[in-house]
Amino acid sequence: AKETGKARCVVYSARLSGPPEHDISLEAAMFQAVREGEFMLYYQPIVDARTREIEGFETLMRWKHPTLGMVPPVRFIPIAETNGLINLLGAWALKAACVQLKQFEEVAKRPLYISVNISPRQFRNDKFLDVLDDAMAFSGLPGEQLVLEITEGTLMIDPAHAETILTRMAERKARIAIDDFGTGYSSLAYLKRFPISVLKIDRAFIRDLPGSQKDGAICNAVLDLAKHLDLSVVAEGVETEEQLAHLQERGCQYIQGYLTGKPMAAHVAMAALRERTYA
Ligand code: C2E
Ligand code: CA
Ligand code: CA
Ligand code: CA
Repeated sequence: AKETGKARCVVYSARLSGPPEHDISLEAAMFQAVREGEFMLYYQPIVDARTREIEGFETLMRWKHPTLGMVPPVRFIPIAETNGLINLLGAWALKAACVQLKQFEEVAKRPLYISVNISPRQFRNDKFLDVLDDAMAFSGLPGEQLVLEITEGTLMIDPAHAETILTRMAERKARIAIDDFGTGYSSLAYLKRFPISVLKIDRAFIRDLPGSQKDGAICNAVLDLAKHLDLSVVAEGVETEEQLAHLQERGCQYIQGYLTGKPMAAHVAMAALRERTYA
């Protein structure tokens, strides 16, 4: 049985490393997975860089396949984006995350926020605002406690449409975060044009801190820009105390990374909140 297990593992890992567009078997498995309820949500703490208090959580989708194990989002999100399944998965994630935040708050006994990734296709979908309204109405979560993460690419596909949608989101008081900030092809002009509240510095600029002078300069520039434009900054992918200290000394207010909390199942997140509340 051990032998079989090993062979299987090799076969599957070979398939999982192929290009997503050729992953027809994985695509078929996704439809099955939706029916079987194999998709779930993990939550990663976003903490205050100074106090390390949990301020909110980013929602990260997981696919727990019965034989493949955990299929990472980099494998299945691109497929869902291509075949449109992202609209269904994204709507479910948004609603479930809003409901989950209410439960987190009951445990924490203080307001928190929930951050949800919105894919380009989801953002451009006609029904997106209805999906947003449905999630807020169903959960009773005020817009103030919702952050929607989009990338620069999402804004650039159709800036006029993006402006309309972002304005509608702002009317609902939901905040917009630019995910992977600095990695997309776009101009800074959109920071002026669109109602944006948060910049998330991509892990690529954090990874080699504090050693890399160039990354240090880029982070300083983003922090300075954010300060003058009155935006919040979240540094992503913080893994070491040195990185945290470096960022905190330079005025970075929020941190997200393995150092202060990996993505975790909801019940684990609740235990973390409980611990801090009663510490
Ligand atoms: P992202 O939005 O940039 O999410 C951050 C990724 O960095 C997550 O990977 C997270 O687990 C990982 N991460 C966090 N802290 C650290 C760290 O300290 N070190 C390292 N090495 N990694 C860290 P994950 O969960 O595999 O998600 C990958 C991407 O898949 C996400 O990147 C996002 O683009 C997409 N994704 C995940 N969930 C959803 C979803 O519900 N909807 C949509 N549209 N996209 C999603
Ligand atoms: Ca994100
Ligand atoms: Ca990111
Ligand atoms: Ca990323």
